[in-house]
Amino acid sequence: PPAARTLDLVKVYGRGEAAVRALDGVGVDLPAGRFTAVMGPSGSGKSTLLHCVAGLDSPTSGEVWLGGTELTRLSDKALTLARRRRVGFVFQSYNLLPMLTAEQNILLPLRLADRRPDAETREWVTGVVDALALGDRLAHRPGELSGGQQQRVAAARALVTRPDLLVADEPTGALDRHSSAELLGFLARSVRELGQTVVMVTHDPSAASYADEVLLMADGRLVGRVAEPTAESVL
Ligand code: ADP
Ligand code: ADP
Repeated sequence: PPAARTLDLVKVYGRGEAAVRALDGVGVDLPAGRFTAVMGPSGSGKSTLLHCVAGLDSPTSGEVWLGGTELTRLSDKALTLARRRRVGFVFQSYNLLPMLTAEQNILLPLRLADRRPDAETREWVTGVVDALALGDRLAHRPGELSGGQQQRVAAARALVTRPDLLVADEPTGALDRHSSAELLGFLARSVRELGQTVVMVTHDPSAASYADEVLLMADGRLVGRVAEPTAESVL
């Protein structure tokens, strides 16, 4: 089954004369084990789409499926639980808690989901930390880490619950080329080797080239798609 899917998604902000149709009938398929990038001009609805898919925002109409669950039918409480268990987030601003160490930040979603790390989970966490080359930074607080390291801590935190879906909103926006390549390579590897499903908004054609498919948005609609993108084909 697809990891995530939307059907005829509409999102209207505000009302009357001031109403903005941020999404105007968007249907996307995010199959399990695929890395999808979303591109398009500023204001075309990319972030709104991501927020709806992740259950952070509720659409005005339409459906959002995460596995076999339709999010718009859930109570607020059930939605919060589904989000914590099934979705991981990476944002442009890392949103790390400054008083916690890197390790405590990474393990936070497990605590929020009331999950005590068992042996299997510890092994997974070790794998993620190794893959992101964070092993020697675990005891550091965010203020003692570079931007790239902080973004990798944020990515590790997003993956620690083994989410069905990883949602990334301009994850490389604040990174230099080297850190970007490290993070994107890690995301691409977790898609290929772990079957992780990733959807990422980006403005950067070279970041989009790591994806299996690029969806193009304009004016709240899906206006195109590029399979096996290269930095040139999505310029
Ligand atoms: P993108 O991510 O492609 O830049 P967004 O999804 O952020 O686009 O925005 C789509 C449209 O919705 C824009 O016109 C934006 O101004 C509007 N919008 C986004 N969030 C809000 C909000 N909370 N309230 C009102 N309008 C919003
Ligand atoms: P490795 O694990 O071999 O060091 P990388 O971290 O460089 O690999 O890349 C991980 C994955 O990201 C690769 O399997 C490849 O599919 C993809 N990838 C690496 N570099 C690029 C690139 N410049 N453009 C698109 N995809 C890339």
